[in-house]
Amino acid sequence: MADTLRPEPLFIADAPALDFLNSVAAPWGTEIEWLAGGLDLLDWLERAGFISAEVLADFREKASPEALDEVADQARELREWFRRFIAAHAGGRLEPSALPDLDKINRLLVRDEAYRQIEAREIHAAHEDQDGTHLPLQWWRGRRWRGPEDLLLPIADAMGEFICGADFERVKSCEGPTCTMWFQDVSKNHTRRWCAMAVCGNRAKAAAHRAKKRSADVVRLKRAESD
Ligand SMILES: [Zn+2]
Repeated sequence: MADTLRPEPLFIADAPALDFLNSVAAPWGTEIEWLAGGLDLLDWLERAGFISAEVLADFREKASPEALDEVADQARELREWFRRFIAAHAGGRLEPSALPDLDKINRLLVRDEAYRQIEAREIHAAHEDQDGTHLPLQWWRGRRWRGPEDLLLPIADAMGEFICGADFERVKSCEGPTCTMWFQDVSKNHTRRWCAMAVCGNRAKAAAHRAKKRSADVVRLKRAESD
């Protein structure tokens, strides 16, 4: 069920597969689940750009709520499995020995009926790339949707993209003491520490400020006592 009081989902990870992990998080202390049911899952997938608005509308109209809820259960289970994989490998190098652990994703991907088509670029889009090459046509990616369980496929696709393309040494979890969010550090000097400055970064700054003030107060107090 969509919860009107719930904040918008956060997309702060710089990697769609990690944004999926962050579809449950506690950025303001209390845990927020953005995939509580089937309609939630559709909504999150569309916001994340995993499915189009048309696909969302189609599933809303034709799929049974029970079937969608069941897929949301599976999506949460897949998410927590992926969280364990990421936690086990983050900060180090991914080695070929990790492959047997990825059976779960490969078993999903083998079912995928994704395809590509060539289409014209939109008129207002640049017909030339930065080098001035003339590019009037482009790829369009589609998928034959057979049922709600296929909603797991774009998620598995994003996980595969991430596993095959990301530098795991740059995969980090937020340093906020109670924060569970993951991100890929794409900053130039690899110094990113927070899910978002506005969430945990400012909180940490405020805590550091309070600690500094406290220790200054203690020093003042001790001086007063010794005077
Ligand atoms: Zn955080």
